[in-house]
Amino acid sequence: MIPDEALKKISQRFKLSAPVYVTRPRMPELSAYSRCLEQIWDSRWLTNDGQFHREFERRLKEYLGVEHLNLFVNGTIGLLVALQALRINSGEVITTPFTFAATSHVLHWNGIRPVYCDIEDKTFNIDASKIERLIGSDTKGILAVHVYGNPCDVEAIQAIADRHGLNVIYDAAHAFGVRIGDKSIMEYGDISAMSFHATKLFNSIEGGALVSKSEKQRTRIQFLRNFGIADAETVIGPGINGKMNEFQASFGLLGLDLVDEEIEDRRTLTYLYHRLLSDVPGITYLEDMPGVRHNYSYMPILVDPETFGISRDALSEILRECNVYSRKYFYPLCSNYPCYSALPSSAPENLPVANRIADHILCLPLYGELDEDIVENVCRIIGVIGHEM
Ligand SMILES: *Cc1c(COP(=O)(O)O)cnc(C)c1O
Repeated sequence: MIPDEALKKISQRFKLSAPVYVTRPRMPELSAYSRCLEQIWDSRWLTNDGQFHREFERRLKEYLGVEHLNLFVNGTIGLLVALQALRINSGEVITTPFTFAATSHVLHWNGIRPVYCDIEDKTFNIDASKIERLIGSDTKGILAVHVYGNPCDVEAIQAIADRHGLNVIYDAAHAFGVRIGDKSIMEYGDISAMSFHATKLFNSIEGGALVSKSEKQRTRIQFLRNFGIADAETVIGPGINGKMNEFQASFGLLGLDLVDEEIEDRRTLTYLYHRLLSDVPGITYLEDMPGVRHNYSYMPILVDPETFGISRDALSEILRECNVYSRKYFYPLCSNYPCYSALPSSAPENLPVANRIADHILCLPLYGELDEDIVENVCRIIGVIGHEM
């Protein structure tokens, strides 16, 4: 453990004058948003497929280079509807424990038992080589996550799905703007689900979208998103309310013009982090993957306590003493939540890599408007500990 005195010295030397959080949303010009609000006021059209909704859907399809897209009020309802659209509402779905709570919860809310598969230690994504042994007579699909925007092994996962006649859903909440070669990552699997929550790379305050494979699927999703209503007197099925409103859509539209700059700025800061942390013993990070256009949505590091000298938790506390708020994404694992820990696949012996990564992972502050000085300061704190403890 790090002695109190050393801790005091570090925080005296490096404490920032104002707190720095793990992320911060890029905001459009207030005056531009005011003009949108005036239009909304004048039109009295607040939600239900308004002009901003239609324009946002069109511009998003264009930006992502995808054909079949539905907007949602948030990413979680989008995922819920994706499962319904594929008629996955019983049995088991193979998924990753190393993700945000929503990924497992949408399975539960659809009456599906999650079956947890271990992850790769190179990408923190579901380990495709371990999926097939988990497939049984109740398996209905695979729900994988492109964690931190790094693509899953999409080819291997599709090959498994094809062999066993399974659907693939990608929780692509972290993967906005990511491309594999010249193809949007959203084109893989049967449906990909995005989140535009305020904490994500790209946001519409709250929001989300599904990308599907056909116009037929898109239409089905559209009914499910609006209570199953086909017209004023026809309800064709048990839908839900997943509609995005005009306030979200216009905010998202303005944000779309800023997202490439945001990715550029985050890329510069990510490379700065990498350069400054490259020789700190016990700290590792993910490198770019060949052929991938990354979005630099998070800045995860692994803290190996043996080599680094102190644990991930201790480092996170020291950073907090210095006014730097890192986050333990994703700790705890979904498989260790009380609501899922009794499932047979949740046993830590079955998930050794995921459990180790969850114990060592720490996400450092990263957002486009973050000062390089602050990155340097954060790395100095980590470096001093790594070299001196
Ligand atoms: C944020 C997030 C979600 C949920 O999205 P919301 O828009 O907040 O509902 C789902 N999965 C992952 C991996 C996320 O990070």
